[in-house]
Amino acid sequence: MAGRIAFASLGCAKALVDSEQLIARLRALGYELVPAYEEADLAIVNTCGFINPAIEESLTEIGLALEKTPKVVATGCLGARPEVIRAAHPGVLAVTGPAQFDAVLEAVTRALPPDTDPKTALVPPRVRLTPRHYAYLKIAEGCDNRCSFCIIPKLRGPQVSRPLDEVLREAEGLVRTGTRELIVIAQDTLAYGRERGERGTLFKLLDGLAELGVWVRLLYVYPYPEVEVLVEKMAEGKLLPYLDVPLQHASPRILRAMRRPGDAERYLERIRAWRRSVPELTLRSVFIVGFPGETEEDFELLLDFLEEAELDRVGAFTYSEVEGAAANALPGRVPEEVKEERYHRLMERQAEISARRMRRWVGRTIPVIVDEPGEDGAWIARGPGDAPGVDGVVFLEGEGVRVGERYLAQVEGADTYDLFARVQSPLPASPGGGAK
Ligand code: SF4
Repeated sequence: MAGRIAFASLGCAKALVDSEQLIARLRALGYELVPAYEEADLAIVNTCGFINPAIEESLTEIGLALEKTPKVVATGCLGARPEVIRAAHPGVLAVTGPAQFDAVLEAVTRALPPDTDPKTALVPPRVRLTPRHYAYLKIAEGCDNRCSFCIIPKLRGPQVSRPLDEVLREAEGLVRTGTRELIVIAQDTLAYGRERGERGTLFKLLDGLAELGVWVRLLYVYPYPEVEVLVEKMAEGKLLPYLDVPLQHASPRILRAMRRPGDAERYLERIRAWRRSVPELTLRSVFIVGFPGETEEDFELLLDFLEEAELDRVGAFTYSEVEGAAANALPGRVPEEVKEERYHRLMERQAEISARRMRRWVGRTIPVIVDEPGEDGAWIARGPGDAPGVDGVVFLEGEGVRVGERYLAQVEGADTYDLFARVQSPLPASPGGGAK
C-alpha cells in the first residue's frame, strides 16, 4: 500500500460524485482509504463554497484535519478561492479547484509516493460513497445560467455535458452491480447537451435509462418549458413522478433581481397542468428568503404562493452574501433578524401544507425501496416522493424485507414528512422499474 488517506466530502450530490471518482483514482494508485484523520498519513477535504455557512463548515473541517493529520489537501468548490483557504489555514499542503482530479493526484503523489504494483490498478473507475442500491449519475459539469446569488458558474465554469453513450454505459455498469435507483444530477439537468446545440438529448437519455428497469429520479430541474416533456415521461412510467424544481421565489420583482424566469401566476398554472397529467406527482422546491430588496409584501406573496401551490417538499435558506455574487451589489439588504423570522414563518406554514399533502397517501399502495434496517424490527425505506438525504422516509414493516429491494406497500399512516407502511409484495419488474 502506498499510504493511508482520510477523505471528507462536503456539499451537494455533485461534489459527492467528484469525491467518488477521486477516491477510485487514489485506490487505483494503491492508497488505502481510512475512516479517521488520526489514522491517515494525508487527508483530502472536498469543500463546498456555495454559501457562507458552507464556507465556514469547509474551513472548520480543514482545521480539524490539520489538527490530526500532518498533510492536508483542500479541493472542491471553495478551492476555486485558494486565498480564502490559505488565509484561514496557511499550513495546507495544496489547494485545488472543483473536479481538478489531476492536480489533487499530483499533490498527493508528491507528498506520499504511490504504489507501483500494476495489480492494484484493477479497480473500478468510480468508488461508491452511497449504498449499492442507489447511485448519483452526473451528466454534466458547470452551468450556463447567471442567477445573481450564485457563483457556481464562476467556480465550475460553463456547462460541459458528458456524451450520451458514456453516461448510458456508466448507468448500465451501476445497474449490473446492484443499483436499483439512478439519481440523475447536474447543476441544470434539463440543459443537458444544450451547449452542443443538441435538443432533446436528456429525453433520449431518460428513454435509455428507463429500459434498464430501475427507478430513475431527476434532480435540479430549472423551470424551462421542457418540464412538460419530463411530466410526459412520468405519465409513461419512465421516470419517477418526482419533480425537483428550485423556484427560489414567487414574487416577479425578486425573481427578476435573481435573474430567474417566471412568477407566481405562471408557476401555479404550470403546476396545475403537471398535476393533471400526473396526479401522484411529488413536487419539491427550494426558496431563498431575505433576498436583497425583499419587502414584507414580496414575502407574503411567496407565502400565498406556497398555500396555493401546495408543494409536497420545500427547503428554504436565508439569503447570505457569497463573495463574487452579482446580488451583493443590490440595494435593500434585509436585516438578519427579519430573514430569520421570515424563514421560520415559511417553514411553519409549509409544515402544515406538507402534513396535509402526506395524509393523501394513507390507504394507498405505493412502491418503496428499502435503504436500511430501522428500530424495533422496522425498516427505513423511501417511496417515489423521497429523494435520499433531503426528503422524508417511509417507515416500513413486514416479513422477509431486504435492504436494496423494492416492494409494494400499503400506507397506514403519515406525519409531517414521513409515511408508515406495511409490505404487500415484491415490486413486479417493468420498464422504468415500476415507477408508476
Ligand atoms: S441554475 Fe442558477 S443557481 Fe443553479 S448553478 Fe446555475 S447559476 Fe447557480
